[in-house]
Amino acid sequence: MAFRPLKNYLLAPGPTAVPAEVLLRIAAPTIHHRTPQFEQVVAGVREQLKEVFQTSGDVLVLASSGTGAMEAGIVNTLSPGDPVLCVNGGKFGERWMKMARTYGLDVEELPVEWGRAVDPAAIRAALDRKPSTRAVLVQASETSTTVMHPVREIAEITRGRDTLLMVDGITAVGVTDVPMDRWGIDVLVSGSQKAFMLPPGLAFIALSDRAWAAAEKAKLPRFYLDLRRERTNLHQNTTAYTPAINLIYGLAQALGSMLEEGLPSIFARCDRLMRATRAGALAMGLRLVAPDAPSPAVTGVFVPEGVDGGKLQKYLRNTLGVEVAGGQDQFKGRVLRIAHLGYTGDFDTLVMLSALEMALSRFGVDVEFGRGPAAAQKIIAEALPAAAKS
Ligand SMILES: *Cc1c(COP(=O)(O)O)cnc(C)c1O
Repeated sequence: MAFRPLKNYLLAPGPTAVPAEVLLRIAAPTIHHRTPQFEQVVAGVREQLKEVFQTSGDVLVLASSGTGAMEAGIVNTLSPGDPVLCVNGGKFGERWMKMARTYGLDVEELPVEWGRAVDPAAIRAALDRKPSTRAVLVQASETSTTVMHPVREIAEITRGRDTLLMVDGITAVGVTDVPMDRWGIDVLVSGSQKAFMLPPGLAFIALSDRAWAAAEKAKLPRFYLDLRRERTNLHQNTTAYTPAINLIYGLAQALGSMLEEGLPSIFARCDRLMRATRAGALAMGLRLVAPDAPSPAVTGVFVPEGVDGGKLQKYLRNTLGVEVAGGQDQFKGRVLRIAHLGYTGDFDTLVMLSALEMALSRFGVDVEFGRGPAAAQKIIAEALPAAAKS
């Protein structure tokens, strides 16, 4: 009999695993959205989202994947020909850039080596050279290269200028501290299938006061993604168009769990799992993709020389039941990306490291079983409370 995995572990940086209580809530009968019952659900998530985004402003919920909220950020605040600065250090930075070009913006690219974070000094220099730049577009966590960009430092630069800071926080919000109001982020977006422990299908976006002011003057065409209309509706606890009703039930449940646990505890877990994964990978002799500015959402490791990363990824999925992401473009076949955001627990990380050792051994790598998980266990154990002595 062939070896078959009994359980599956979804450890990709989106979509992420969904807890049973969220799935059950989503399975509730669909009610009509123009009812007091549904308006009550919207009123609840409206307040909870503000806490998670750490803003006093509105957080709008769109029926789209995360990219829809990125697009909403652009079309609501900018006009054709506006100069923008795009930080391009990976696939998602590239997406900002392509989108901005599609809308006829005057795009300046700030290229960043894959695996490295952008240097805020380069952003300052670009804005000094071109003070008319209307917006800086950047990822908080660049999921494709597993890097964290220094959003706080970038916000210090944009805050005092006539330049909006637009942040793709899709694998940062609910993963690590990105206090929108305190730092002075102008547009912050996220999506349901990452830290929010939900299936794909919802995107979230929040605007600062000055971004809302820009929305009044922006000339790019927008209809479905017109946030002014969404905001007017949200103030009545409803949405402009038919919302993803059942996903919003799930959102209420997931946000409830997140806020009950508390953001500091969630941030600490993601940070711990990042440190455990990195320590485990290093103990196995693997090289890290982002040595200096790692994202607490996902860890990238280079597969050993001579191993086909695509085949390794398939082996992990099909034989061991462990789903991780591979690398894209220049990282294709060379990198595995292991997530620790959302509904990922300490033991999921240990399972992953243990599966990775076994898979590597089957690919002919000289592996001493247990080194990776042991290094991770040390880090996790340090976070455990002391045992009662009596
Ligand atoms: C997943 C992801 C996106 C894309 O989101 P979709 O939901 O696939 O549209 C964008 N940016 C980052 C950083 C992501 O991780």
